[in-house]
Amino acid sequence: MSKFIKLGPCEACGSKDNRAEYTNGFWCFGCSKYETKKDTKSLRERINPISVNINSQVLNIVHEIPVTPLKWLLSYGITQKEIKKYGISWAPQEKILVLCMKKDYWQGRNFGYGNQKYKSNGNKPSLIYGKGKTLVLVEDILSAIKISRTENYAALPLLGSSLSKDTESKIIKRYKTIYVWLDRDKAKNSILIKNRLRSFDIISKTILTTLDPKVYSKQNIINILEEKK
Ligand SMILES: [Zn+2]
Repeated sequence: MSKFIKLGPCEACGSKDNRAEYTNGFWCFGCSKYETKKDTKSLRERINPISVNINSQVLNIVHEIPVTPLKWLLSYGITQKEIKKYGISWAPQEKILVLCMKKDYWQGRNFGYGNQKYKSNGNKPSLIYGKGKTLVLVEDILSAIKISRTENYAALPLLGSSLSKDTESKIIKRYKTIYVWLDRDKAKNSILIKNRLRSFDIISKTILTTLDPKVYSKQNIINILEEKK
């Protein structure tokens, strides 16, 4: 397994101290950029996973995603480019597809032990995918990635179905319009969140669809958000 060396600046995102150096590579907690070292000294180590320490829990990750989790990603139309862009990686020991990895939080789709679909650890971050001016609250990361492909919408994965006070205060400062698009069985939560956002003078509505946002194409997503029939 690799060892952590130090935190340093990241050229890709401009962060001063988010890029962690390991004996065999680099991982940026800011922009999820991942690199393996190419010098001969660490050549033997390059095939080893990078051991990222989050909340004193070590997650050993590699960037080669096996067929089953890769097929799962592709079934939602996630591209190789997006896998790279968002630093989606594989934890071979736990058999978890790591969808997001920050300094004190990670979340992944479980392909290993137990019935739990998603596994995570740490404090949920406020992650915003995309640059659109209208924010859409969704449950999961893949749904957020799909929405971020549109021009006018950005998405925040709740990583569950509730909106934390911390995230709420951040988004109501930044967005005037915030939609809530959760699973059909969370309709009650959606309405609660929408009403709360409206109490801060945010323009808000709930969106109810039979399937998760991550299932829909870019054009479908735009049509649904803009209520085009
Ligand atoms: Zn970075």
